[in-house]
Amino acid sequence: MTDRLRLAVPNKGRLLSPSIGLLRDAGYSFEDRERALVAQVRNAPVDILFVRTGDVGEFVADGVADVGITGSDLLAEADLALPEVRRLGYGRCRLTVAVPEESHDRSVGDLAGRRIATAHPRVVRRWFAAEGIPVEVVALSGAVEVAPKLGLADAIADLVSSGSTLIVNGLRPLVEILDAEATLVASAASLLNRAEAIASLDLMLGAAVAARGRRYLMMNAPEDLLPVIESLIPGLESPSVIRLSHAGMIAIHVVVDADSIADLLPRLRAAGASGMLVLPIEQLVA
Ligand code: AMP
Repeated sequence: MTDRLRLAVPNKGRLLSPSIGLLRDAGYSFEDRERALVAQVRNAPVDILFVRTGDVGEFVADGVADVGITGSDLLAEADLALPEVRRLGYGRCRLTVAVPEESHDRSVGDLAGRRIATAHPRVVRRWFAAEGIPVEVVALSGAVEVAPKLGLADAIADLVSSGSTLIVNGLRPLVEILDAEATLVASAASLLNRAEAIASLDLMLGAAVAARGRRYLMMNAPEDLLPVIESLIPGLESPSVIRLSHAGMIAIHVVVDADSIADLLPRLRAAGASGMLVLPIEQLVA
């Protein structure tokens, strides 16, 4: 048995490119996939197995891979009870129940006795059973959104991110039954036997996820302005303060949300900060 950690990731589809991007941001160096099934990471004992998004869970459950990255909706549907190691913050979507615009159904309760088309039959059956609403689930593997037009179903339960596909297909959302995103999972056995290797992978993926949307902000200011500057920066705990060679001047270094920069810089400038630099952060370990 190899002592390299085997990580299964999607080989195509919408989770492929962001998963590769995350692994690279986390510092892992490997050849582009081309047609290979396995890529060896050059700078860490990890082998990447490229498999279908919907098969990642099975590969992990069967022990072919130790860990995997796939959509949490697919994991819920496969019902494999794999331990989630970390949610990865991309591929976000909601499994949404929707009806044709012209339908008289206004709430989920109105769906009693209706046919619901979905590629997530188990999740949908479970949800409606828990709500005590009897429905007939029509399992489809794709093109769920056209099922009502084809007369296959009265409603659908499909993955939605922006909601534009629903609108284009003349569908009206009734309720969201599951929030999903790309997720790192492991098998219970690997969590036990490969604990250290999985912890390292998790640390590096977590560091790359945490760095996204954050910036490193450096500025100079007169020392006596420190309390004012601290009060302007939301959620600031303990900034690094470095004394400069100019008497009474300090440099202040902080990590801030990227979204706050546009509002923050003019206010810091007005308060007396100068020499402001905003830098990207590649990895952040708390
Ligand atoms: P794929 O079929 O390989 O393109 O991947 C589908 C997976 O991408 C789903 O199972 C979800 O986890 C994720 N996903 C994220 N947003 C959406 C969306 N708007 N529609 C379908 N899948 C999405």
